Amino acid sequence: MKTYRQELWFQTPTRRAFINITPQVEEAVRASGVQEGLVLVNAMHITASVFINDDEPGLHRDYDRWLEGLAPHEPVANYEHNRTGEDNGDAHLKRQIMGRETVVAISAGKLDFGPWEQVFYGEFDGRRRKRVLVKVIGE
Ligand code: ZN
Repeated sequence: MKTYRQELWFQTPTRRAFINITPQVEEAVRASGVQEGLVLVNAMHITASVFINDDEPGLHRDYDRWLEGLAPHEPVANYEHNRTGEDNGDAHLKRQIMGRETVVAISAGKLDFGPWEQVFYGEFDGRRRKRVLVKVIGE
């Protein structure tokens, strides 16, 4: 069995952002040489997510509005977590609902997606360097 590991680095200029990372995941699969297998893609930070959905800007604005409705960033004093001196209590909650990781099947060397599926990095406490792990296993 082949294995391949790669880290992708991001630093978003805004606190919250969604980035289509499908090209980087495809490149990692190519580099692995795996034809039949699985690729795990996970955020390595507890205030960021990796998820699969549509690359449609309106949907991404809808996610942001929905998440801000559930866990607004302000007022930061509303979060017990922020009593530690942090201001990212909302980002931990947003990460929880958007998920830590995704797994995609690899068939004939390609990501075996359903219609419109793309892989996204969801940032909820950006403006600093953060990582995503890509792990490919298979034959
Ligand atoms: Zn925190």
